[in-house]
Amino acid sequence: MSADTRLPIALVAQHAYCPRCAWLEAHGDTVDVAQIAEGKEAHVAVDDPSTGRSKRLTSVGLQSERLGVTGRCDVVEIGDGGAVTLVEHKATPVRRKLPVSLRTQVQLALQAMCLEEMGYEVAGAEIWNATLRRRVEVRLDNDLRDLALEHLEACRAVVMSPEPPPPLEDDPRCYRCSHVSICLPDEHLGRSPARRISATDPAGHVLHLTTPGAKARFRAGRIEVFTPEADDPQRVPIEQVIGVVAHGNADMSSAVIREVLTRGFPIVWCTWNGRVVGWATPAEGPNGDVRRYQYSVDDERRTDVARRIVSAKITNQAAFLRRHAAPERESLLSLAEAAKTAPSVDTALGIEGRAAVIYFQGLSAALKQPWARFERRSGRPAGDAGNACLNLLYALLLSDALRAVAACGLDPAGGVLHSPVRNKPALALDLMEEFRPVIADSAFVWAVNNGELRESDFRSDLGTPRLIDRGRKALISAYERRVMTEFRHPRFGYRVSWRRAMEIQARLLLAFFRRELSTYHPILLR
Ligand code: SF4
Repeated sequence: MSADTRLPIALVAQHAYCPRCAWLEAHGDTVDVAQIAEGKEAHVAVDDPSTGRSKRLTSVGLQSERLGVTGRCDVVEIGDGGAVTLVEHKATPVRRKLPVSLRTQVQLALQAMCLEEMGYEVAGAEIWNATLRRRVEVRLDNDLRDLALEHLEACRAVVMSPEPPPPLEDDPRCYRCSHVSICLPDEHLGRSPARRISATDPAGHVLHLTTPGAKARFRAGRIEVFTPEADDPQRVPIEQVIGVVAHGNADMSSAVIREVLTRGFPIVWCTWNGRVVGWATPAEGPNGDVRRYQYSVDDERRTDVARRIVSAKITNQAAFLRRHAAPERESLLSLAEAAKTAPSVDTALGIEGRAAVIYFQGLSAALKQPWARFERRSGRPAGDAGNACLNLLYALLLSDALRAVAACGLDPAGGVLHSPVRNKPALALDLMEEFRPVIADSAFVWAVNNGELRESDFRSDLGTPRLIDRGRKALISAYERRVMTEFRHPRFGYRVSWRRAMEIQARLLLAFFRRELSTYHPILLR
């Protein structure tokens, strides 16, 4: 058995818990949530082989040529006669009784078989619980060994498969599963989860480097941002950062880049007026096999999803205008209806264009400040102050969509509605459509109508309005508040931030590409 086909014992143990969990882990969908952090904490004392004594070895590497596995024991105690006892450290929070889960039993049985193949006599196995500070014995009988071998073979078949096993249904394991926020078992069934939704880091923030000439460096677990106008840097703990966006000529050290990418988060670079010019994503992440599915979507499925995205975008535009008492709602709703049966992607795009003309008139009318109103959406270069604001806000939304798409291992360029042949992050553009009115446009109207953005926040360069530094900061701050606002998810019923909702929608797109879902359901507001 070659080295790269050997299975980690920990993965086989995951399989004993749930085969889908093992598949997600093997295909790069790893998580780092509180449970896992606690587990790591419990292992700190035994993770360093140099801390072992002659009769008590820590962090012992294992492998078995016969079984095709590799692994690591927390502790191996050597008895006087030379027989060894395995001790596995756990941090499972328990009150009195110490449970021994199937996955731990499978893990210990495989570790014991490895040690035997390496020439040791295994006298027994125990679990040390860091919460109770107690040991419990695990019997390594033949039945357990046979069961471990069955899981090993089943796990090998599961991880070699290009498709994941289906999620469990109504199973209590999902409540305790560390992968629940990326597996989304109830969401796959299209129903509201009984569990509370959990995110990898629900309080995480995207760090925007907005001040011209700002420089960020990494020091003592924090990102320090130096700006030309302040003597002291602003300091942000790295644990709170789930992505960085550098605007204009803001700079960051390679230590910041390395640390953010190592933690699994992306970095996006924009021009000072918000055009996305590039991004960096971590090297480790979900395997590229999801992209095979992404690229092989046939025309029928592509048209179906394109129709849904366009219809949802127009429906959400109508819902947004209704909240601002704009009269365009009915004509938008009839276009949303027409988009549902568009015969082709191009027809759907045509309907989207017609809706945009109506919608942006309504959006402009919802603005209380005359200087912010505009005739029509003009893109780049912005013809007026309103369009300059929308350009920046859509770029911020695109950065978030890129982050969500890249976190699933999807190719940001492989779009469904937007053409993948125009050198654009087409899939990220697809994902952001349903969110444009409810995040970006909403932040714009809020910032203008509440006086956070003023006419004096713009200057004119040869007739083209440009946001000055204060205005850009005000708009970015309005965007960040909006994207972190929680709402009740209309399909799943739980409360979730708009940023997290974008990640969930990206995972539903992933499930559609993998054919776990027959179609994609965008968020629809009423
Ligand atoms: S959430 Fe449930 S179905 Fe998904 S990996 Fe975890 S245990 Fe398995």
